[in-house]
Amino acid sequence: MPNELPASCACGTLQGLARDLGPDTGNRLVCYCDDCQAFAHFLGKPGPVLDEHGGTEIFQTSPARFELSQGADQLRCMRLTSKGLLRWYAACCRTPVANTMATPQIPFAGVVHSFLSGGRDEALGPIRVRVQARFAHGDLAGLTTYERILPPRNLLHFAGILLRARLRGDHKRSPFFDPQTREPISIPEVLSPEARAELAKAALAGPVREA
Ligand SMILES: [Zn+2]
Ligand SMILES: [Zn+2]
Repeated sequence: MPNELPASCACGTLQGLARDLGPDTGNRLVCYCDDCQAFAHFLGKPGPVLDEHGGTEIFQTSPARFELSQGADQLRCMRLTSKGLLRWYAACCRTPVANTMATPQIPFAGVVHSFLSGGRDEALGPIRVRVQARFAHGDLAGLTTYERILPPRNLLHFAGILLRARLRGDHKRSPFFDPQTREPISIPEVLSPEARAELAKAALAGPVREA
């Protein structure tokens, strides 16, 4: 049974709806990689975005499942390097939104948990896998399903989601790309090597938890 969740930035300026959610329509994971951590530090909000081990919870799905109803002009994107993922956020309150490829041709959106309101466990199903554990902070004992990279069964699940999305024509229905020009709706900001080094240092130091 597919589910819906309201999608919103923290201040409520950017709002929309995520449809057809469920364990079969996406890949719910936690990523501990240094780049996801650097993105949270870039936004100045590592506390609410990262878990205590520096992980970012992401739902990998088709971008066409997201419909923005207001505040789309607040969407911005950055790249840690000139070849990196587009990392989208709401400029109004610097809430992370999603990661996409640089082209709409691959209908992929890794939606960050902070953009989804309501019960994620009910709507998305359980977290399937935790990846890039070598970048995680603190004591991981007690947490299971840690992997270095996506394990094959999970990769297959993810590939199936991408393939079905492409066959449905979802690459023409991404809220992150202009349907005519196929360009990102906001010009990506590519970080300088210096800025990236600063963020990498912050990520290495670990997530700062807000009280
Ligand atoms: Zn906002
Ligand atoms: Zn990551």
